[in-house]
Amino acid sequence: MSAIIPLADKDRIFTNVYGFQPWNLAAAQKRGDWDNTKKLMEVGQDAIIEAIKASALRGRGGAGFPTGMKWSFMPKESRDGRPNFLVINADESEPGSCKDREIIRHDPHKLIEGALIAGYAMRARAAYIYIRGEFIREAETLFAAVQEAYDKKLLGKNAAGSGYDFDVFVHRGAGAYICGEETAQIESLEGKKGQPRLKPPFPAGAGLYGCPTTVNNVESIAVVPTILRRGPTWFASFGRENNKGTKLFQISGHVNKPCVVEETMGISFRELIDRHAGGIKGGWDNLLAVIPGGSSVPLVPAAQIMDAPMDFDGLKDLGSGLGTAAVIVMDRSTDIVRAISRISYFYKHESCGQCTPCREGTGWMWRVMERLREGKADISEIDTLFEVTKQVEGHTICALGDAAAWPIQGLIRHFRPEIERRINEKNGSAPIMEAAE
Ligand code: NAD
Ligand code: SF4
Repeated sequence: MSAIIPLADKDRIFTNVYGFQPWNLAAAQKRGDWDNTKKLMEVGQDAIIEAIKASALRGRGGAGFPTGMKWSFMPKESRDGRPNFLVINADESEPGSCKDREIIRHDPHKLIEGALIAGYAMRARAAYIYIRGEFIREAETLFAAVQEAYDKKLLGKNAAGSGYDFDVFVHRGAGAYICGEETAQIESLEGKKGQPRLKPPFPAGAGLYGCPTTVNNVESIAVVPTILRRGPTWFASFGRENNKGTKLFQISGHVNKPCVVEETMGISFRELIDRHAGGIKGGWDNLLAVIPGGSSVPLVPAAQIMDAPMDFDGLKDLGSGLGTAAVIVMDRSTDIVRAISRISYFYKHESCGQCTPCREGTGWMWRVMERLREGKADISEIDTLFEVTKQVEGHTICALGDAAAWPIQGLIRHFRPEIERRINEKNGSAPIMEAAE
């Protein structure tokens, strides 16, 4: 049993995540959003940053960088008259991830109010919300919600009566996964091809149009008003040391009730699934493996994940990661080699082609994965493939190279006998239709 107490309804931040109530401003205000925002801002910019630091909030986009610390990198004084900017990353594209979509669909005002407060704290003149191109209805909702906020003078000049001028722009992406990488996103916002930049410099030093910029995930920004209203100590009271707060988990795959649910960080996998997803299809004995944090983290076999704490450290200890907390559950009916080959194809397809280990390596790894799926490879190729993943990992401009390497490493580490069985029996499985090229 987990020592972590599951989240009570009274402690949920996202009270409309299922859209039982309207998303609009009037309904959002009834839920407590935009309630005396001016008062939250009156404590001052540095005090807000300190409060977010005290809450121990870590970025909810996947990497888990401490949010308050990231904000504190932004310059307090303008250099050469350059403005500061906030960019909100709503380009949610990680396979398995679908939480930011739900926030925008059903609770957009939490995000917009959070944008004002975070932007103010970082002395930003404006926020750009970069929304995934495929989120057509969500973008419509977001545009309408931003307009509502302007109409009620919650944005624009003297936003929410705070004396601070702040604009929010919504920018639609065009369907490239790599534009979710923060520097590719900045390039794309500037009207260029979305390709990642080398870091450093980090965006706080040179970001959008060369100006100091912070890029934050939707969930990271949307929780800010509630953290300030209820206090950083309240938020930090959930979870474990270094892994605090509540988190939106997205549970998909072979569970009885796939869902997006807010839970306390560190809840055990078993409790998360039993409490919210109706258990594993066919029962717990039928569980094969789990990808706990979106497609870029390695899978974890059933026996190891059952009682694992679902947080950054708990999953890191298992050689995987929390990522975006997109929990992909696979039962024993899963063709695990085929599943990972499909993920390999995704990264090959989405590589921007800028650096050689990723451009060439993702295609190479996918082609070997396909031969393993077919059972037509040589046993020695398993080690060669593992070695190639190690050559790609850490040798590329952005994390896409790592994301392509890690799922394969997880497969070989945990399911080598299954790969060997296919080769020995020359017993492959059906091709992946989408990947036929
Ligand atoms: P990262 O660790 O390089 O950076 C995380 C954040 O911290 C960035 O904003 C970065 O600017 C900042 N940062 C890190 N070190 C810093 C320093 N020394 N000084 C100043 N700022 C610093 O990770 P990343 O490449 O931004 O993100 C990778 C993660 O993205 C993966 O873990 C994956 O889970 C996730 N991901 C999410 C999605 C999605 O749809 N949400 C898609 C793909 C990947
Ligand atoms: Fe582009 Fe891949 Fe290099 Fe990232 S790692 S910059 S996606 S080629």
